Amino acid sequence: MNLDSRTMMVMMSALILLFSGLLTLAGLHAGNTRGVQHWALGGLCIGLGLGFSYPQQELPGSSWVLVLGATLAATGIGLQFNGIQAFKTGLCNKYIPWLLAGLVFIQSIWFVILHPDIHSRVVANSLVFALCNAACARALFIRIEQPLRTAYWFTGGSFAVVAMMLLLRAAIVFLSPANTYGLFSQAPINPATFFIGSMAQMCLAFGFVLMLNYRLSADLQKLALSDALTGALNRRSLEQEAARLSARCTRTGDALAIMMIDVDHFKSINDRYGHPVGDEVLRRLAAVAQKTIRSDDYFARYGGEEFCILLPSTIEKDAWTLADRLRQNYAALIMEFGGDVLRSTISIGVSDSIHAGLEFSSLVAAADQAMYRAKQEGRNRVVMHSFCLSQVNI
Ligand code: GH3
Ligand code: MG
Ligand code: MG
Repeated sequence: MNLDSRTMMVMMSALILLFSGLLTLAGLHAGNTRGVQHWALGGLCIGLGLGFSYPQQELPGSSWVLVLGATLAATGIGLQFNGIQAFKTGLCNKYIPWLLAGLVFIQSIWFVILHPDIHSRVVANSLVFALCNAACARALFIRIEQPLRTAYWFTGGSFAVVAMMLLLRAAIVFLSPANTYGLFSQAPINPATFFIGSMAQMCLAFGFVLMLNYRLSADLQKLALSDALTGALNRRSLEQEAARLSARCTRTGDALAIMMIDVDHFKSINDRYGHPVGDEVLRRLAAVAQKTIRSDDYFARYGGEEFCILLPSTIEKDAWTLADRLRQNYAALIMEFGGDVLRSTISIGVSDSIHAGLEFSSLVAAADQAMYRAKQEGRNRVVMHSFCLSQVNI
């Protein structure tokens, strides 16, 4: 098989330009997700940079075109690194592509114009680009929840393959005798570089799209399962969790407890300070609750200013202790809005599966009954459902 290096290089350059266009399309509807346009622009620079390396060496001015090609490719990999950082954190250091471009520009001027030596140039360029690809791979090999981890590691693996291939290229060219190597000579490392490079670029483009796809579906799932105002679970996901926990408790014989929380005199907060302040009060309550509950409890917005907490493997008495801590933490909260100091309280009813059964509706009804009892008794308190039962029996 005779793989022509020039043809392969043109193919690789065309492939990268095509992927850059596809990534631009993918990024058009990426919502708040950042990074995709960096990848697309990075691909455009790398594709053009490779294309500029194509001219015959003997054409006039081809040296400057080679310098421009290497500089563009370095800018491109810098942009792709920034795209990864922006995708992960929303932030990136905008000087990185400029720094890389400057470094490779100076290096190329040296090896192409001042001391033309293709041998050293290929070794130096391969080493710099290997390091850049390794840095991209390193940025992606992180612990993150599935399925994003699969996409991160797949893309990181593709960068790692490019980095290893470039290292190998640097080593082989370094060890080969001077003047036996040309960019398009039929030395096996040339077609191998372009072949593996093309495959890796295809995987990179696919990896970026996979990352975007998994991120968008994770965001959508989060939106579908959580309450937009407070970030708590919404009622639908609460019911799903309750069904799952009830089934588990039936199997294990564990108790399941629930808290119903209602803000006291919330209407008057809305009336006095306005709805936006009312919304902020709900967010603050949610933040206090998230801090107070244990890691395996489920905090949800049940509706309006009513919240619900599911407590696996918990009996009513222990739920009461946790609920009273939450009540105290919230009552101690001093909220300031435009110079006004606002304090608020909550009433909580608790029930458990031992007294109310494992049906979610009966657990909620029992906790609701206890919560209304807390309201009747003066608010800012926690009442157990079993207390209501004992009162009925008297
Ligand atoms: P109580 O102590 O008896 O609970 O009195 P309350 O005023 O809190 O009475 P209630 O629980 O019936 O009040 C619910 C109020 O919550 C009515 C509604 O306008 C308000 N509300 C419901 N959802 C929201 C919301 O998302 N944001 C804001 N700001 N207010 C909401
Ligand atoms: Mg209410
Ligand atoms: Mg209320």
